Amino acid sequence: MRILVTGGAGFIGANVCRELVGHPGVSVVVLDDLSTGFADNLDGVPAELVIGSIMDRRLLGEVSAGADAVIHLAARPSVPRSIADPMLSHEINATGTANVLEACRSRSIPIVVASSSSVYGATPGLPRHEDMPTRPLSPYAASKLAAESYALSWASSFGLPVMALRFFNVYGPYQRAGHAYAAVIPAFVDAILRDEPVLMHGDGGQTRDFTYVATVARVLAIAALGRVTSDEPVNLAFGSRLTVRDLAELIAVRVGRPLRVTHLPPRPGDVRDSQAADERLRRLFPGVAPMPLAEGLDRTLEWF
Ligand code: NAD
Repeated sequence: MRILVTGGAGFIGANVCRELVGHPGVSVVVLDDLSTGFADNLDGVPAELVIGSIMDRRLLGEVSAGADAVIHLAARPSVPRSIADPMLSHEINATGTANVLEACRSRSIPIVVASSSSVYGATPGLPRHEDMPTRPLSPYAASKLAAESYALSWASSFGLPVMALRFFNVYGPYQRAGHAYAAVIPAFVDAILRDEPVLMHGDGGQTRDFTYVATVARVLAIAALGRVTSDEPVNLAFGSRLTVRDLAELIAVRVGRPLRVTHLPPRPGDVRDSQAADERLRRLFPGVAPMPLAEGLDRTLEWF
């Protein structure tokens, strides 16, 4: 089987490519414009890297020719990035996803699409069930809801085999710190390793449901290789819930350094609480189990 991974040079993509090439008879082609990804994330991975954009529909037609499935990860990620440049989020995440769906439609190529827990936004109630209303709080969340909705509508309108997975907070190797939009785990690890205070937005009482990236990669590979489809979105997290304050303490203990915290104002667009309902995920992917956070953090620290 030949799998096209858009955004395959990014954090999750690099892990997905490693998972895919471990399956006998699977070859991987990556389409990535390296806007937030890195070619060296794929060092040692026998995947073909095509440097280009999902906004280039001719190129998409070329790279998807001969693909048996597509894993679509390419996006302008992060809530604060979308606050800084909402139109770019819209173009890459919404229009870009429609471009990828169109490339798949012409050859009926099954596609797995990365959506986000941010689509729940201001909706009250935990855990987040997939049939709860969506109330995006940021342009990023709205663009991911558009991407997911387009994918499901390409399934209902054109019969395209689709799986739209709502990732929660994914962490692990290849997720980098050292830039303004770093995710919370690499940002905290980096600060603690440097003996600097962690920068905590708000009071730290906000909660998140963290998923280790190898687990996410495994689910994506099963979906693509096994043609697992769903006409409804599916959460990709296991229903754990941790405050950002407790996360910082856990990382400091595992690194073996004292924790110092500098509080910053809450960020616009951030949700207060997040926790997945995982019944749909467990029904569709019965063999996949979550990794305990402490073990996932230790593996992440080994990579740093
Ligand atoms: P990432 O920034 O590391 O990966 C995104 C990749 O897409 C990068 O390699 C980037 O260069 C590439 N890309 C961006 N624009 C492109 C374009 N126009 N054409 C081709 N490639 C392009 O981020 P990630 O965390 O690996 O995210 C992967 C996917 O998962 C994204 O769709 C993101 O919205 C989604 N997601 C991630 C999380 C998380 O916790 N990391 C949570 C929810 C959803």
